[in-house]
Amino acid sequence: CDRWDLGGVSTALHADTEQATVFVHDAYPGGAGFAERGYGLGATWLRATRQAIATCPCRTGCPACVQSPKCGNGNNPLEKAAAVRLLDAVLAHAPA
Ligand SMILES: [Zn+2]
Repeated sequence: CDRWDLGGVSTALHADTEQATVFVHDAYPGGAGFAERGYGLGATWLRATRQAIATCPCRTGCPACVQSPKCGNGNNPLEKAAAVRLLDAVLAHAPA
């Protein structure tokens, strides 16, 4: 798939979960199964994401690592180092 096959929403505090939450969903009408597959492979995909960000040669973030043309906030705020810290925190609770 490519980035247009998936959508996402994130919030620092969601009323239903009562915590910081990231939703990932299929963007194809009716779904194509990408989000379900991602749920099963979440830790693997997040480790790959962390690796891509941490090894990107840019200094503060670029379209190859942390910027997204789909970002509803125009990629602002955006912090490459914080993205790596956030992924480390999430992955600390992920299965090996
Ligand atoms: Zn980059």
